[in-house]
Amino acid sequence: MRILITGGAGFLGSHLCERLLAEGHDILCLDNFFTGSKDNILSMVGNPRFELIRHDITMPIYLEVDQIYNLACPASPVHYQYNPIKTIKTNVMGAINTLGMAKRVKARILQASTSEVYGDPEVHPQHEGYWGRVNPIGIRSCYDEGKRAAECLMMDYRRQNGLDVKIARIFNTYGPRMALNDGRVVSNFIIQALSGRDITVYGNGLQTRSFCYVDDLIEGLIRLMDTPEEVSGPVNLGNPVEFTILELAEKIIAMTGSSSRILFSPLPQDDPIQRRPEISLAKRILNWQPETSMEKGMGLTIAYFRDKLS
Ligand code: NAD
Ligand code: UDP
Repeated sequence: MRILITGGAGFLGSHLCERLLAEGHDILCLDNFFTGSKDNILSMVGNPRFELIRHDITMPIYLEVDQIYNLACPASPVHYQYNPIKTIKTNVMGAINTLGMAKRVKARILQASTSEVYGDPEVHPQHEGYWGRVNPIGIRSCYDEGKRAAECLMMDYRRQNGLDVKIARIFNTYGPRMALNDGRVVSNFIIQALSGRDITVYGNGLQTRSFCYVDDLIEGLIRLMDTPEEVSGPVNLGNPVEFTILELAEKIIAMTGSSSRILFSPLPQDDPIQRRPEISLAKRILNWQPETSMEKGMGLTIAYFRDKLS
């Protein structure tokens, strides 16, 4: 198949390109390089089945493809809050432009959504039927509401035009190829630990997240894309093993053998207090669950950053 991956030069996108290329598909990697990098896709450049398209997905584009993975959007709060208007445009216009393409060429489309659609949740763990508690006017809303609008567009194109759509609600994912300046917690803590700087824990560190290793997530995305047409509603993809941010800091200090100390700083506005995916739907319809332990995944990620920093 010919497969378009928007955001293909980013952290998740580059792993997805690599997996699908190895399976024998033709890959169109579209990116505007806001948070992605050429380094991430270097191993694929030159492969005749890999095409790189420098393009901003807020603008229309006409391509002929069989499948579309719409991943274009900065995912780290630091980057999506840098130009919030651009972030919501990327989510809304990006969904409209890729859906328009899917409609024109009758392609199947998968939207990368997020656990952020649940906001600061009162339901724990979060299941797909929960509508969420999102602040519509806060500093995270360009991303949260942008993704909620993208989900809405997917479902309306399905109801109105009969499109074959999939929605993956991705929970915190980590692994090699997160950018050094990404700003999300795993890369921040590893880089701080490896360079002997203070580990910046926001708030009291008792807020929780559940971390999925990138290879597991990519497997889940591909399985979701390959489900029958009847499957169209959102599916949670993430690792249900939950940690406090303080536990994560301590684990990374121990695994790196670092002498870094923990420095507490203010919790950013609207930072969710708890987050853990309920994945029984993914288990049932995709026969999927994360396989990589925190020790293994974190070990591989630490090795990646150690190499990058040296
Ligand atoms: P990332 O920032 O590494 O990748 C995003 C990619 O999209 C980058 O290559 C960036 O340059 C590109 N991009 C941004 N705006 C664009 C635009 N207007 N036009 C074209 N390209 C554009 O982030 P990631 O972690 O790889 O996330 C990929 C997708 O998965 C995002 O949609 C994100 O919201 C979603 N997601 C990721 C996580 C996670 O933990 N990694 C969690 C939930 C959802
Ligand atoms: N966080 C932290 N220190 C950092 C970066 C993040 O304590 O250097 C916290 C952040 O406040 C949040 C959690 O770690 O509670 C996860 O943050 P991240 O930006 O990785 O993703 P989020 O799930 O908030 O989108």
